[in-house]
Amino acid sequence: MSLIQASRGTELRCKGWRQEALLRMLENVLENGENQKELIVYASLGKAARNWPSYHAIVRTLKELEEDETLVIQSGKPIGVFRTHRQAPLVVMANCNLVGKWATSENFYDLQEKGLIIWGGLTAAAWQYIGSQGVIQGTYEIFQSIARIHFGGDLRGRFILTAGLGGMGGAQPLAGTMSNAAILCVEVSDERINKRLSTGFLQRRAESLDEALDWINDARRRGEALSIGLRGNAADIYPELLRRGIIPDIVTDQTSAHDLLYGYIPSGYTLEKAAQARKSNPAELQTAAGHSIAQEVEAMLAFKAAGAIVFDNGNNIRTQAKAYGVEDAFQIDIFTEAFLRPLFARAIGPFRWIALSGEAQDIRVIDDYILEHFRHNETAVNWIQLAQKYVPIEGLPARIGWFGHGERTKLALDVNRLVKEGKLAGPIAFSRDHLDAGAMAHPNIMTERMKDGSDAIADWPLLNAMLNCSSMADLVAIHSGGGGYAGFMTSAGVTLVADGTEEAEIRLRTALDNDTGLGVLRYADAGYEESHDEVRVKGIRRISTEG
Ligand code: NAD
Repeated sequence: MSLIQASRGTELRCKGWRQEALLRMLENVLENGENQKELIVYASLGKAARNWPSYHAIVRTLKELEEDETLVIQSGKPIGVFRTHRQAPLVVMANCNLVGKWATSENFYDLQEKGLIIWGGLTAAAWQYIGSQGVIQGTYEIFQSIARIHFGGDLRGRFILTAGLGGMGGAQPLAGTMSNAAILCVEVSDERINKRLSTGFLQRRAESLDEALDWINDARRRGEALSIGLRGNAADIYPELLRRGIIPDIVTDQTSAHDLLYGYIPSGYTLEKAAQARKSNPAELQTAAGHSIAQEVEAMLAFKAAGAIVFDNGNNIRTQAKAYGVEDAFQIDIFTEAFLRPLFARAIGPFRWIALSGEAQDIRVIDDYILEHFRHNETAVNWIQLAQKYVPIEGLPARIGWFGHGERTKLALDVNRLVKEGKLAGPIAFSRDHLDAGAMAHPNIMTERMKDGSDAIADWPLLNAMLNCSSMADLVAIHSGGGGYAGFMTSAGVTLVADGTEEAEIRLRTALDNDTGLGVLRYADAGYEESHDEVRVKGIRRISTEG
């Protein structure tokens, strides 16, 4: 079978640009994905569709879909097409949602084995993944926040230790060098190291820990940015560094620790041995992975005790370690609460846009537009300048940018106008990560230690999805966790197409205002001052039930 690539150019295979846009986004997540043959996009098992027959049926259906119809997808499988109306979403989907008591990894694996469900990641099954750059600004903002709080505003001469160079983890080395740090990334797979080298996210590969440390020390002395990939197991390398008395300045991990069966490779296992054990003795493999994670997290806690800034980068590693006996695993901070919450409280989060024509020039035109018209937004301007310089193109040209309430809408409407005026080669799709203010409940990641204790309440992402449907979004998705995330999270995703039409203008204004508006209200409801301020300044209609 030939490799799937997103279609480029302006020729349509569907009955309109909205349908064509969603088809290209589906193709794009596979083009950027980690294992196309298995339809796996990222996050260990995060898939674009249930299986190949489902994929082909989705493609066929999108090509036939009328503007006033809605395609319904359940866990990556197309179920049916319904007559709705021109303002309704073209696609609605629910991926990996299990009823509370049944939401366990065992049930998930069993249902997956039977072909009844998939883990859609956040952006894989919702066709919103744009490669490693999808989380790069988030990782960069975390490093910047650490720099400001702990290192006088600069990471020059600082040593970051991390692990995992997969779909999302692959953003870490580039975010590290963009922050001027020397970053060491431990990764068990040669293939993943080579992929990040070839896409330009990683600079060098070391053949041994000694070589890696020599390079890191040299870069620190010179105050130079450097990223190094080292083949090895984090469960071995972290304790080994500790044994040698080497304490990095910053420590994290972005292996797929959330998944003991398909994700985290235990110490002493090659990739082949793990693949074999997955079939012959899955229970033993999971136990071995759990113990290795515990070993790694013990080392992370020791680094913390020795003064390093240590954080969980959103992979449930502390949860797994605790289940395997590391009682104080939660002494380690979660990145959202420690570094990004003030942004989320204002609904500032990972917004993204994709040039559906495939023309990189469209992204450059939008970059320049932002630099000129969003000058007041220092974070955005700084990011766009850096991204222009450092972030390579993966798949359909795309850009991530952290924007908040009102600003996303303004940008999207301006871009829609640029499409209409023919200043761009084709329409632009707008989307965002599910890890966004009003769109995710995950008590061990997004909503840990919320001010009012509302961590586990999943009403918000469900409301978000319903509101986005009512607000005329083009695609709306509700996801819950698979693998080790089963029972841990619910999230919602949304996509909109700026095709230059007046209808698009109405959709973009309504859906984007309401998407971030609900995000602000979610945090206002939890008592965050920044959100109350945002409600006041931006005139969001919040209903008071006090007194
Ligand atoms: P992935 O499965 O594509 O990559 C994981 C990588 O870890 C693989 O390359 C694998 O070879 C490597 N690995 C596994 N065990 C290892 C070990 N013991 N030592 C060293 N390397 C090991 O996953 P991904 O898309 O990169 O996501 C990684 C994790 O981050 C997932 O748990 C995902 O859910 C989470 N995530 C967090 C955020 C966030 O916002 N912070 C966003 C997306 C994903």
